[in-house]
Amino acid sequence: MSTLVTKAFVMNSFPWKDRHRLLHLLTPEHGLITAMAPAAESLKSKLRAVSQLFSYSELTLSGQNGRYTVKDGAVIEAFTALSQDLDRLAAAAHAVEVFSDVARNDEPNRQVFELWAYTVYEISRSEDPVFIARMSSMRLMEIIGLSPDLDACISCREPIEGAYFFSYLAGGLLCEKDRAKGQRDAMTVLSKGTVALLLHIERAPFEKLYRFQASDKIRREASCLADRWVEEKMEKRYKRLSLLDSCLDFSFNTKESEKAGE
Ligand SMILES: [Zn+2]
Repeated sequence: MSTLVTKAFVMNSFPWKDRHRLLHLLTPEHGLITAMAPAAESLKSKLRAVSQLFSYSELTLSGQNGRYTVKDGAVIEAFTALSQDLDRLAAAAHAVEVFSDVARNDEPNRQVFELWAYTVYEISRSEDPVFIARMSSMRLMEIIGLSPDLDACISCREPIEGAYFFSYLAGGLLCEKDRAKGQRDAMTVLSKGTVALLLHIERAPFEKLYRFQASDKIRREASCLADRWVEEKMEKRYKRLSLLDSCLDFSFNTKESEKAGE
């Protein structure tokens, strides 16, 4: 048995057998690990607070071969605001699912841990927590090398002027001249502001990542793109946000394409 002292975020927490809790913990060095918190359901348990979903703690774990038991812990930040507001809760639930999927499938990556730290903090205080959750998932895709190519036309590599045609299949932008190379049902038109925001989300240092201003229109476009992009890259449906809103108009918008000069 070895002892591990680590900072950790609780990404999932559920009852386990006799008043225990089973925790999925996101750690900086070991990625996503599973740990059992003995008797954490008990009101008197000192492990009760560190077993709360979304909480951030310093924990002492013992175990081996990836099977850990929580021995001791102290909460650093409980993020109680997340459970007091439905939008924040839905946003956090969506983001925690995408981050957990990435952390489960990839090698431990400190950047994933740090991005989650900035994201959970921002979701707990932002006026638009759902949008923060969506943008966090786009930066997460960049960390694992699955971000769209937004620098130039992916076909001719020329800078784009005029309308921005985004192709999900080709994984980036097409210029007016090359738009026919994309399949219509896997394309959408983006405004210049949306492309600029998405580039910021791909590249800004974490401490500036969520310091942006964006109109409702840009938020709508970027939200729909993020939802579809992340689902296609992760090959999974994420349903936590579907009760709040939906992007029915995923596909190519013919009216806008006419305006753009068809
Ligand atoms: Zn082109």
